[in-house]
Amino acid sequence: MFTIAARRMGYRVHTFSPESDTPTGQVADTEIKADYEDLDAVRDFAKNVDVITFEFENVPFATVEEAEKFVPVRPRGEVLHVAQNRLREKNFLEENNFPVTSFRHIKTLKDLQKAVEEIGTPCVLKTAGFGYDGKGQTKIKNIKDIKKAFDNLDGNEAVLEAFVDFEKEVSVVAARDLQGNFAHYGVIENAHANHILDVSLAPAIVSNKTQKEAVEIAHEVLTKLEVVGVLCIEFFLMKDEKLLVNELAPRPHNSGHLTVDACVTSQFEQQLRAVCGFDLGATGFYKPAAMANLLGDLWKNGEPNWQNALEFPNVKLHLYGKAEARSGRKMGHLTALADSVERAAATVCKARNALIS
Ligand code: AMP
Repeated sequence: MFTIAARRMGYRVHTFSPESDTPTGQVADTEIKADYEDLDAVRDFAKNVDVITFEFENVPFATVEEAEKFVPVRPRGEVLHVAQNRLREKNFLEENNFPVTSFRHIKTLKDLQKAVEEIGTPCVLKTAGFGYDGKGQTKIKNIKDIKKAFDNLDGNEAVLEAFVDFEKEVSVVAARDLQGNFAHYGVIENAHANHILDVSLAPAIVSNKTQKEAVEIAHEVLTKLEVVGVLCIEFFLMKDEKLLVNELAPRPHNSGHLTVDACVTSQFEQQLRAVCGFDLGATGFYKPAAMANLLGDLWKNGEPNWQNALEFPNVKLHLYGKAEARSGRKMGHLTALADSVERAAATVCKARNALIS
């Protein structure tokens, strides 16, 4: 989606990843298939482009550090370094007085036993690195679960977090340009299923106070990290309206996919503008919008019936061109625009259900 935005504005795009025929590669001018650890390939790639960005936070930091020797990487590698590790991320947030759930750093079984005692149950153990969409997470409901949860870590460092009884989950997708100007898409409301984003709505159904506070936190986070590009802040909204930051994603985010159809400037064009040194575009919504993810599970009994969804004239279909429809894999999404978010959400879910009926 970033590449489509870039190509539309006349840019040539080179992509680097360990796979071939990737969604980006299908649209880019040049697709380089190499391991992220292959620093010779990284150097060759960097020498052939003017600026680098990433759309996935598990690119190793050393890869970005190498690329930064040749061309600007935006956002800078340090932003990736903080966001790709839950411990560094939580320490950054806590040190800068951003609200987070109680957490502890876990290296040994003893650490975990002590931390569960202090934080209480239920709590959730998350590997510090390389986790997303619930991967590398174990819920601890009582002390009997501790040993198994620790063994699941396979020797990796982890973070133990209090399991919070939130009212809803929301996110702010925001952008910052080279001059430090800031733009945002307001608050987006997110419903997850099995730890994976299921449906997003915008604007979120939350108070003006929450809107204002969430955007203020986003502005401060992007400023503190000196982000150039798009970054998404995911929050838990508690029943007393307190906001807790759950996670930072230093890139266009799944909850911002609805901006492609609903906004004057999509999050992908915004990313392009920021990393190429242009001014940010307007973020206004044409209409309230909702997005429903299409996971590989929809292919269980064969190809979904696209016509059934396209019968809804205000529904837009996005398929990413991924070859294999695995369970839990994000294959595409639907977006609906309507006169209210409730109607947009109802329509997009109806269209998704129709795919397999
Ligand atoms: P994460 O990969 O940390 O974003 O977690 C994926 C999803 O799991 C979140 O969006 C929540 O729905 C749920 N989750 C993660 N951590 C917690 C927590 N501490 N308390 C309650 N739910 C959580």
